[in-house]
Amino acid sequence: MDLSIVIPLFNEEESLPELEAWIRKVVEREGYSYEIIMVDDGSKDKSWSVIEDLHSKNPKVKGIKFRRNYGKSAGLNVGFAATQGDVVITMDADLQDSPEEIPELYRMIKEEGYDMVSGWKKVRHDPMFTKNLPSKFYNWTARRLTGIMLHDFNCGLKSYSSRVVKSVEVYGEMHRYIPVLAKWAGFKNIGEKVVQHQERKYGVTKFGLERFIRGPLDLISVIFMSRFGKRPMHFFGALGAVFFVIGFLILGGLSVAKLMYQEYGITERPLFFLGILVLIIGTQLFLTGFLAEMISRNAVDRNNYLIEKRHE
Ligand code: UDP
Ligand code: MG
Repeated sequence: MDLSIVIPLFNEEESLPELEAWIRKVVEREGYSYEIIMVDDGSKDKSWSVIEDLHSKNPKVKGIKFRRNYGKSAGLNVGFAATQGDVVITMDADLQDSPEEIPELYRMIKEEGYDMVSGWKKVRHDPMFTKNLPSKFYNWTARRLTGIMLHDFNCGLKSYSSRVVKSVEVYGEMHRYIPVLAKWAGFKNIGEKVVQHQERKYGVTKFGLERFIRGPLDLISVIFMSRFGKRPMHFFGALGAVFFVIGFLILGGLSVAKLMYQEYGITERPLFFLGILVLIIGTQLFLTGFLAEMISRNAVDRNNYLIEKRHE
């Protein structure tokens, strides 16, 4: 099969028929063998019966229904596992992403040898202050921290070579960072394509203000996991050691002052308390490192490496 299109959706009943018809028009014109995997993330409206209806008319539409709402990442992860195509394209269900982009995204994977290509909503039709500006800042930070030069990490429209989606695990709210997960899994050839973006035609956005807190925290997790996930002691231990040494020097110095020079009132001095504080923080960090190390030793994927080729 040439192409799998994965669409995570939550309460998008009005958009689905139009979306399916549009995708079908494009992919049939191009002559791909394809499947459309719609993952209903616990919708409370009639999305699921719309999907069943679409499936009965076009068996290439496949549906997966969650019992409750788990989030976009869960939808993508389960959708990815189900794909059979050589190229996998994800898109949002709300008609903000245009199916006309599919052929070019497909071609960039197939012919230009990209592992993944991320859409870039260069001209964006979303509210300025709640969506566009925060997203610019967020993308700038993500570029600095990850070294991946994308303008629009979180664009719902992306294409992947099948190898990539079978190697990355999208959990929590990590759908924002799939390029980072892909790079971490060893897929370095990450491209970008400017894509059309429309205003939301039906329904409302599913991501509110909570994303301002969750997005940055997830970015920190992703970076930490990619650098120190398999060796947490190197992070906590190093930091802990620095703190410990500083605290030890401070308290050692004060003790010397007291013992050798009979200095009075060292317990009155702010430095004394700082010394204790830093020493305790250092010890805590060290212990955290040990605990994290023990946990990662027991993690099921501690020896999970992605093998590209093998000569036997
Ligand atoms: N979505 C989902 N589960 C959720 C929230 C969103 O599957 O819990 C889907 C949603 O139906 C849409 C896509 O994720 O297909 C992007 O969501 P939305 O358009 O609301 O995000 P925005 O474009 O406003 O950033
Ligand atoms: Mg949208």
